[in-house]
Amino acid sequence: MSEKNWSGTHEFAASVLHNPTSIDEAQALVAGAERIRALGTRHSFNEIADGAELVSLVNVPPELTSDGSTVTVTGGTKYAVVANWLQQNGLALHNLGSLPHISIAGATSTATHGSGSTLGNLSTAIRALEFITPDGSLETMRAGDDDFAGAAVALGLLGPIARVTLAVQPTYQVRQDVFIGLEFSALLDHVLEVFDAGYSVSVFTDWMSHTGSIWVKTRMDVSGSVPDEIFGAKRESERRNILEGNDNMTVQGGVPGPWSERLPHFRIDATPSDGDEIQTEYMVPITDAAAALSAVHQIAAQFAPILLVTELRTVASDDLWLSTAYGRDTLCIHFTWKNLPEAVHAILPLIESALAPFAARPHWGKVNQIQPSTIATLYEKLPDFRRLVERRDPGFKFRSDYLRELLGLRDEPRGSARPTLDSGNRPLGRR
Ligand SMILES: Cc1cc2nc3c(=O)[nH]c(=O)nc-3n(C[C@H](O)[C@H](O)[C@H](O)COP(=O)(O)OP(=O)(O)OC[C@H]3O[C@@H](n4cnc5c(N)ncnc54)[C@H](O)[C@@H]3O)c2cc1C
Repeated sequence: MSEKNWSGTHEFAASVLHNPTSIDEAQALVAGAERIRALGTRHSFNEIADGAELVSLVNVPPELTSDGSTVTVTGGTKYAVVANWLQQNGLALHNLGSLPHISIAGATSTATHGSGSTLGNLSTAIRALEFITPDGSLETMRAGDDDFAGAAVALGLLGPIARVTLAVQPTYQVRQDVFIGLEFSALLDHVLEVFDAGYSVSVFTDWMSHTGSIWVKTRMDVSGSVPDEIFGAKRESERRNILEGNDNMTVQGGVPGPWSERLPHFRIDATPSDGDEIQTEYMVPITDAAAALSAVHQIAAQFAPILLVTELRTVASDDLWLSTAYGRDTLCIHFTWKNLPEAVHAILPLIESALAPFAARPHWGKVNQIQPSTIATLYEKLPDFRRLVERRDPGFKFRSDYLRELLGLRDEPRGSARPTLDSGNRPLGRR
C-alpha cells in the first residue's frame, strides 16, 4: 500500500487500508483482522494512526440524529458535515478546531482543540462513544460510566469508534475581528487578558518581528461589542490571511455569521493552512504562559528561518485522562513549519528543552520528539489508561509498536508470534 497523510509527510507502513461503506462492514473487517487500527481524515502529522492494517470509516455515509441536547453521528463524519446539519437544525457545538475538514472520531481521539479560555477541547463535548470491539461487536460507553474519561481521548487504542454523541446547544452567531500590531512585550504583560478578549482568541506571531496579530471570535449573544484596540493592537477592516498567498479564511471584519462559519479559521471549500507543511504543538499550564513564551522567544532566531507561523491558543482544563489539557488551564504553542523534515527534527530538541520546565505536553497528532519516559511524567492517569487498554483489547488488536513504546503499554502476549508491524516507521526519536 502506498498511502500518505494529508500533508504527504508520513507514508503509512500498513499493508492494507480498508474503506468500508457501512458500520456492519467495518465490524466484519475488525472481527477478521489480526491487527487493525482506525484512520480518520489523515490530518495527523506523525505515526499515531499507523498500524499493521488500517480501517477508515470516512466512507460510511453520515448518519445524524439529535434529541435537542446531543447529536449522534457516525465517527468518520467530518466536522463540516455535522456543523452544517446542526446549524440547519438550530443547534451548535461549543467550539471547533481551526479546520472543519477533520473527522469527529479522529479529532477527538487526539484531544483536538480550538481556542477559548473557558472552552474545553473538542473531546470534552463527547457524551457517548460506540466502539467496535476486538470481536467486531458494538459497545457503547457513556459519560459517567467507569473509565469514560479514559475512553474519550484514546488515540484509537480502544478500537474504531463507530458513532459519537456530542453535547449541543442552541445555535449562536459569531463575529470575527483581526487586530494587528500586538507587541510581544504587551502579550507577555497581559497574556491572560489578551486571551480573555473574546469567546475564542488566537494570537499569531513569527516571533522575530516582535509584533503579532490577535484574532478574536465574539459570541453575539454574549457580547456584540468589540473594542477598536487590544493592548496597542488595532482592529483591522481589511481581510487577513494567516499565511500570505493562501486565500482560505472564513469571513472576518466583524460580520456576524453562524458559529459553524466563524469558529474555524479555514473554509471547508479551501485547502486549510498551507498544505506543504509540518506541524508541532506543545501545551503548557496557563499559569506559566508568560515564562514559557519568553523561553521560546529567546531561541526564536534559531528556528525562524523554517517557521511559517506560530499560533497561540488557550483551552480550559478537563478531566480526560490523556487530554493535553488534563487538570490544567492551558496555553497551546503551535508551530507551522516549512516542509523541511530534517531541519524540523533538528530544531525540536531545542524547543522541547526550552519548554521542559513547564511540563509541556505535545499534541498527540503533531510532530515532536518527547520521549516515552517524559510522557509518563506528564499524564498522572497513564497507568489507569494502560489498564483500560489491557482490559478492552487483551489480544493487542488495536495496538501499534509506536503507541506501545510511547505509552509504555505491555508487550505482546507471551508466546505469541510478533507480526512485523510498522516496518516503515521512524525510530521514536523521530516522532
Ligand atoms: C491543516 C491542519 C490544521 C489543524 N488544526 C488543528 C487545530 O486547530 N487544533 C488541533 O488540536 N489540531 C489541529 N490539527 C491536528 C488534527 O486535528 C489532529 O491530528 C486530528 O487527530 C486529525 O483528525 P483525523 O480525522 O485526520 O484523524 P487521523 O489523523 O486520521 O487519526 C488520528 C488518531 O485518531 C484515531 N482515529 C481516527 N479515526 C478513528 C475512529 N473512527 N475511531 C477511533 N479512533 C480513530 C487514529 O487511530 C489516530 O490515533 C490540524 C491538522 C491540520 C493538517
